[in-house]
Amino acid sequence: MPINFAELRARMVSRQLRARGIHDERLLAAMAAIPRELFVPACDRPEAYQDMPLPIGAGQTISQPYMTALMLQLLELEGNERALEIGAGSGYAAAVMGALTRVVIAIELVPELAVQARLNLLAAHAGANVHIIQGDGSLGYPDEAPYDAIAVSAGAPSVPVELEEQLADGGRMVIPVGDRSEQTLEILTRSGKAIVRRLAGGCRFVPLRGGAGWH
Ligand code: SAH
Repeated sequence: MPINFAELRARMVSRQLRARGIHDERLLAAMAAIPRELFVPACDRPEAYQDMPLPIGAGQTISQPYMTALMLQLLELEGNERALEIGAGSGYAAAVMGALTRVVIAIELVPELAVQARLNLLAAHAGANVHIIQGDGSLGYPDEAPYDAIAVSAGAPSVPVELEEQLADGGRMVIPVGDRSEQTLEILTRSGKAIVRRLAGGCRFVPLRGGAGWH
């Protein structure tokens, strides 16, 4: 029997997201609609809705669904934002972010992953407003700044000052900060010149590389 992905998706939304405190209805609707199975390697499709990260090649992973949801919920997206994602990977989080904002610039360091992310978005008919750019995003992407929302999808040794500078007034950033294997999710909100920082618990992301990342 073919796998009923729509059913797996609905179950993921209720058991992994709603049950754990994800309550942003636009976010839940986007994750109930976007075919996550098209963002993982074909052999891993049956596992696409499991409660864990999965390999996507080049030693990288697509984040656990709950972690993608938590990061995007913390950004409190309303629909009109210019958004930046650092670490596009498979393009899945960028696709969900695209459904919740006006435009998304998503940077991916590994060239073959950037190409695959674009193909995944096309195959999924998602992310028409998502621009995948290949390069080092650890210093942000000043050409399109400022951003109302920034999601860093890889673990940073510290918050790059360049990213703070690219945050619009009232804008928010979520970023995992810590060592190479374990981090704390930080939320930074800009209000004029001031940046307010709060912590949102432990997490595990692959390391952020590049200029402001791990070497
Ligand atoms: N958001 C992704 C998961 C990303 S995993 C998804 O939904 O699939 C983290 C990604 O960050 C990896 O693909 C890795 O190659 C990328 N990365 C690491 N350092 C980076 C940097 N400096 N700039 C851009 N991407 C980076």
